[in-house]
Amino acid sequence: MSVGLTESEWIWKEGELIPWQDATVHLLSLAVQFGNSIFEGIRCYDTPGGPAVFRLDAHLRRLLDSCKIYRMDPPWSVDQLTEACTTTVRRNALGDCYIRPMVLRGYGSAGLNPAASPIETYVAAWPWGTYLGEDALAAGVDVCVSTWQRPYPNTFPVSAKAAGHYNNAQLIKMDALANGYAEGIGLGPGGVVSEGGGQNVFLVRDGVLITPFLDGTSLAGITRDSVIRIARDLGVDVREQHVPRESLYTADEVFFSGTATEVTPIRSVDRIDVGSGRAGPVTLAIQKRFLAIARGQTEDAYGWLTPVGG
Ligand code: PMP
Repeated sequence: MSVGLTESEWIWKEGELIPWQDATVHLLSLAVQFGNSIFEGIRCYDTPGGPAVFRLDAHLRRLLDSCKIYRMDPPWSVDQLTEACTTTVRRNALGDCYIRPMVLRGYGSAGLNPAASPIETYVAAWPWGTYLGEDALAAGVDVCVSTWQRPYPNTFPVSAKAAGHYNNAQLIKMDALANGYAEGIGLGPGGVVSEGGGQNVFLVRDGVLITPFLDGTSLAGITRDSVIRIARDLGVDVREQHVPRESLYTADEVFFSGTATEVTPIRSVDRIDVGSGRAGPVTLAIQKRFLAIARGQTEDAYGWLTPVGG
């Protein structure tokens, strides 16, 4: 399923808004040569009180944590980046949209030592619908276990959301699409379930919600954290544990969580129906509550929404 990019007018660059078309980098910038770019993916929802960004603070903290891991030191605080994101949404007159802050190493160094390359910070935002297809949230998606694995811990620090890591995610995604699936699930080096190409994975078995440990092979998803908190507050028992591949086949329910993906039911894995082959009750209860909070249709008891303001 391809998702087109709808251009907006302005991109925030180092404290200023510049025209979308002017946000270019040199061919020999390290971001292009070596994938030296840290990024975030954040959703803004058009709530009854105006556009509001979901868990902006957590995303920006992860952005700066990712930079730290890669020894990048952008001169912006979480507060300044909050302002950058809300300004970008407001000035582009966006409602429901996706926000993409990026911190990258620019043009300057020739070899691997990045010291002479500047650190550049950008924020883009554009309208974006459902990630895994129009009816994915209701009907669920068909996925496979990928032939590509996730990296070993201490090879790529996957707690960092770094562009280079997404070569692995793209291999998983392209492999899945080539075989007629919406997305793939990568196994970790130990052969147990790690995560999807751009999502965390949850299973339900006998009413218990299960998700893989954060074991250095998957991203600590902010939606994953939201799902765990919502599930516990709904009275669902949640366990983080090793998840063998075959438990995907025998689960009552399986779903993905992610910013773009939101909470998307998985109806089959490797052409084996999950449960009845339809979205299950635990998945739907969590999805309903998640979307109601994000869309501002119920009280924001967790303080997860940042209004964009007018
Ligand atoms: N894993 C990967 C590899 C991802 O790219 C994403 C999307 N950022 C996730 C998990 C889910 O993370 P989040 O819920 O923070 O979007």
